[in-house]
Amino acid sequence: MPAPLRLSPPHLVGTEMDALRETLESGWLAPAGPTLARFEAALTGTMQLPHAAALSSGTAALHLGYRLLGVEPGDEVWTSTLTFVATIAPAVQMGATPRFLDVDPASWTLDPQLLGEELAAAARRGRLPRVVVPADLYGQPSDMAAIRAVCARWGVPVLSDSACALGGRQHGRPAGHGADLVAVSFNGNKIVTAGGGGALLSADGDMIARARHLASQAKEPAPHYQHETTGFNYAMSSVLAAVGLAQLPSLEERVETRRAVFGRYLDALGLLPGLSFMPEPGWSRSTRWLSAMRVDPQHFGRDREAIRLALAEQGIESRPVWKPLHLQPAFRHAPSVGGEVAAALFEQGLCLPSGSAMTVPQQFRAISAIRALHR
Ligand SMILES: *Cc1c(COP(=O)(O)O)cnc(C)c1O
Repeated sequence: MPAPLRLSPPHLVGTEMDALRETLESGWLAPAGPTLARFEAALTGTMQLPHAAALSSGTAALHLGYRLLGVEPGDEVWTSTLTFVATIAPAVQMGATPRFLDVDPASWTLDPQLLGEELAAAARRGRLPRVVVPADLYGQPSDMAAIRAVCARWGVPVLSDSACALGGRQHGRPAGHGADLVAVSFNGNKIVTAGGGGALLSADGDMIARARHLASQAKEPAPHYQHETTGFNYAMSSVLAAVGLAQLPSLEERVETRRAVFGRYLDALGLLPGLSFMPEPGWSRSTRWLSAMRVDPQHFGRDREAIRLALAEQGIESRPVWKPLHLQPAFRHAPSVGGEVAAALFEQGLCLPSGSAMTVPQQFRAISAIRALHR
C-alpha cells in the first residue's frame, strides 16, 4: 500500500534546522529576543498591519483578543456557527454567552446581511454583543468590508479569526483587515507553521502593547514584579519563532500550491453529477487551506460518509466539514440564528487531502478513488 495521504501535514522548507541552531546558539530561548522580534516584523509585513504580538497559539490569540475587548461574564459574543470550536471556546470559558449565526451560501462564512438584521434586533432589545467574531473558513476570508460596516453602525468591535487564512485576501486587502484585532495560527496543520503558535495583529499599537503585557504575566516594570492585573503565559517561544521565520517567506508559493490542488480537484471531479466545490466570491482570494467539496448523495450515488470511509480504507485521510457549533452538545443551551445552511454543509461537506507537499500522482490517487465511487 502506498504511503498514507494526510489532510494537511506540515511541509518543511529545509532551512528550519539552521534557523533553530542559530537561535539555540544565540541563547535567546525565552519569549523575547531578536528572533521573536524578526518574526513579528515579518508578520506585520505579510499581514500589512503595523503591530503584531507572536503568541503560543491561535487559541491564545483569540483569548487575548476577548480579554482586550473587555468580554465579561454574561456578555454575548457572536460568531459564525460553521467554525472550529477554538473560535469561541475562550469566550465561553470567560463566562460569555455565545450566539451562533448562519453562514452565507456564497462564501460559507458569516452572513453579513443576517448579522446586520440581528444587530438591529439586538439593539432594539438593548443587548448588543460585546464582540462579533467572523471566522475565516478553510482559508476563505470573511467579508470584512460588509461585516465592518454593519458592526460600526452599532459600535460593536470585531475580532477576526483568520487562523487558517494567512495569505488570503478580501476586497484587495489581507484576510481580517478591517477588524479591530486579527488572530492567526501557526499550528502544525496550517499553511506555514512554527510547530505551534499564533499571533494577534492590529492597526492599534496600544492594543498590541497591552496584548504583549498580558501575554507575559502582566508584569509591571519593577524589579520585584508588580502586578496591577493578572495575565497569561502566552508569549511565543523564540525556538518556535525561528521555525516560523524560516517558513514565512514561502507563504505565497504555498498558497499558490494549495490553490492549484483545489483547481485539480475541481477540474477532475467538478463535473461529476452530485459533486460541487466550495465557492470563492469575486471579492476574495481563498488560501484553499483545505479543499472542500459537497456531495449530493441523490446525484452522486454515495453520501459523503461513504466516500470518507472508502478513502480511509485506501489510506487517504478526509474529514467532514466542521460540525456547526449550534449542533454541538457543548453549546446546546446557546442561542442561534438560522443554521440550516451550515447544517447542510456539514451533512454533505468533505475536506480532501490538501497539503502543499502532496505530489500530483498522490492527489490523483485520491481523485481516482472518488471517481471509482460514482454510480
Ligand atoms: C487552527 C484554527 C484555530 C486554532 O489555532 P491554534 O493555533 O491551533 O490554537 C482557530 N480557529 C480556526 C478557524 C482554525 O483553523
